[in-house]
Amino acid sequence: MPNLFQIISGVFVVSLFGVLSVKKKAVDKTGLIAGFAVGLSVWILGGWQWFLIILVFHLIAAQFTKYKYELKRSRGAAEEKGGARAWYNVFANGGIAMLLAILEGYGKFGGDVFFAGFLGAISTATADTLATEIGLLNPGNPRLIVNLKKKVEPGTSGGITPLGEFATFTGALIIGLVAFLLQVAGFLDVNWGMKVLFISVVAGFLGCTFDSILGATVQAVYRCQVCGKITEKRIHCGQKTKHIRGYELIENNTVNFISTALGALIAMLLYLNI
Ligand SMILES: [Zn+2]
Repeated sequence: MPNLFQIISGVFVVSLFGVLSVKKKAVDKTGLIAGFAVGLSVWILGGWQWFLIILVFHLIAAQFTKYKYELKRSRGAAEEKGGARAWYNVFANGGIAMLLAILEGYGKFGGDVFFAGFLGAISTATADTLATEIGLLNPGNPRLIVNLKKKVEPGTSGGITPLGEFATFTGALIIGLVAFLLQVAGFLDVNWGMKVLFISVVAGFLGCTFDSILGATVQAVYRCQVCGKITEKRIHCGQKTKHIRGYELIENNTVNFISTALGALIAMLLYLNI
């Protein structure tokens, strides 16, 4: 059970980053509440190392969403509202991580299997966010991951680019390196550090690749009736868009949630088998 110090320190630290995130317009009010729930669970039930890892994801997502925002918006592919994330965006990327922190806190399972799963989920979310935000800046058009001969417009779900793949790998590697440094510093165990690095990179890269495959196959894709651009949004240019492929029930947040769950699963299987 968490002690009083963990709760008080958690409320203090998570509130501090919450206020900063609202000031930086990284989250809206609903995103703030959801982020508070995720951050506090991770701090109290996982620990400060867990929190530091999810914080790195949050800072990267906030920073790279703003990076060349106007250029991305002109390509019709930027996040809405200046990139301020709402509650559903927060849970789509951090819900599985929160669940794993709860399992770590209350579950009865020895070892670090939930920590490995947590790393897989955060690594996938980071890789996917960087791939999207950096991949949009690729000079050439993306190709569809399930049919590489087919070129698609920038921002199309399931489209991949060389720059986006590089960003995917980099995102997974950053989370792996943070985990490596924390684990080696904490436990003075380089072998364990290498293991968490390997797990983060592999699970994050595969989870993110699965995200693109879902994006190319089952995710709902629409066309704007005003500007003609392909989008994953139901509303574009203030008008309702036209559904052209995928299942309408499966939108980007659903895909992110499923992919982080798969990233977590891959990481836990790797942890148990290597
Ligand atoms: Zn439009």
